[in-house]
Amino acid sequence: MAVPFYRHALSPDYAVRVASVLGSAFLTTGPEGARVEDLLRDFFRVPHAKLTSSWTQGAVATLLALGIGPGDEVIVPAMTFAATANVVRLVGATPVFVDSDPNTLLIDLALAAAAVTERTRAIIPVHLYGQMVDIPALRAAIPSSIRIIEDAAHCFEGSRNGRRPGQDGDAAIFSFYATKNVTCGEGGAVVTRDPNLARTLVQTVLHGMSAGAAQRFQGGTYNHWDIDRLGTKANLPDLLAVLLAPQIEQVEVQCARREALSRRYEAALAGTPFTWPALEPGVVSARHLFPIHVPDGRRDDMLRALGEARIGTTVNYRSVPTLTLYRDVPEASSLPVAQEWGEGTLSLPLFPELRIDEQDEVIETVLAQASAFWPKPALRTATGR
Ligand SMILES: *Cc1c(COP(=O)(O)O)cnc(C)c1O
Repeated sequence: MAVPFYRHALSPDYAVRVASVLGSAFLTTGPEGARVEDLLRDFFRVPHAKLTSSWTQGAVATLLALGIGPGDEVIVPAMTFAATANVVRLVGATPVFVDSDPNTLLIDLALAAAAVTERTRAIIPVHLYGQMVDIPALRAAIPSSIRIIEDAAHCFEGSRNGRRPGQDGDAAIFSFYATKNVTCGEGGAVVTRDPNLARTLVQTVLHGMSAGAAQRFQGGTYNHWDIDRLGTKANLPDLLAVLLAPQIEQVEVQCARREALSRRYEAALAGTPFTWPALEPGVVSARHLFPIHVPDGRRDDMLRALGEARIGTTVNYRSVPTLTLYRDVPEASSLPVAQEWGEGTLSLPLFPELRIDEQDEVIETVLAQASAFWPKPALRTATGR
């Protein structure tokens, strides 16, 4: 039986919602988006939320709003999707890569603190696979002038000690890309407690214009606008925003399903040579992905075997400074944890609609490979258990 890596849960019923937008005056950003922004403010318990066309555009708009650009440094983890570093380069600033904690794979806070220079303006901690970075601990470890922009692309539903993304950082940015826990195909959002950032973001998501479409026609007559700072084009059209509200209302139910499936994988793979990131006390993970580490240089063999068995897999992620664009950064050779994880990891199918018989097929295939690659006596040596 073939098992896909991911299957989305948007039924044809959503077509009715899209049709309602087509019947309204707003093809682009309008009242549907505003309704979703209200839901985001409630869910994350923050005063400001802005929908964006992607995580990437939301991050570019945020960096522009904070005035971060050439000459500035922004600290990012090496173990993340490349977009986390790309956005820093897109605004002309320099990403500085930091290694991960070997147990959680989250950015190592002591190494992050050690990477601070007088040019550091911001840090982008990534809530990798759905586990939040300890933002209050990060805040305490670095100078207070450094902005904390949370990459929450994996962490819509997650929390740490009851605190959600955006509640302790300067901003948290989400992705609603096709494979994310909440999706409208392409999209994102920025949430923030900072009223100045929120005000400036309204401009930087819309070319830098001082007045959005609604304000330009306020009072029935045309009002002139100005541009006094550079912006990008990052707003989300209502045609896509209309897909989000029902998912946000159902998100805890879907996440409980991800949690149950993740625990089934953990129980089935205990005692094999495979390992996975540990969750820390107080963490509720959004369980975005289920990555495992395959030891002894067998990861690519395993990818091939799973592919031949028609089981969907991906690699999340190779260490960013091993990619050609970033190969020459000075810190590239001193990121051993990200390097090792990036060479050993692969992700197994995990999504709320994954059926138990499908998951069993994945588990059986993975266990069969484990006994093929590591016959019993060697298996014990490899695990050390
Ligand atoms: C998906 C992802 C992004 C980029 O999101 P887009 O909405 O595709 O721009 C950024 N960071 C991480 C960790 C991601 O997984």
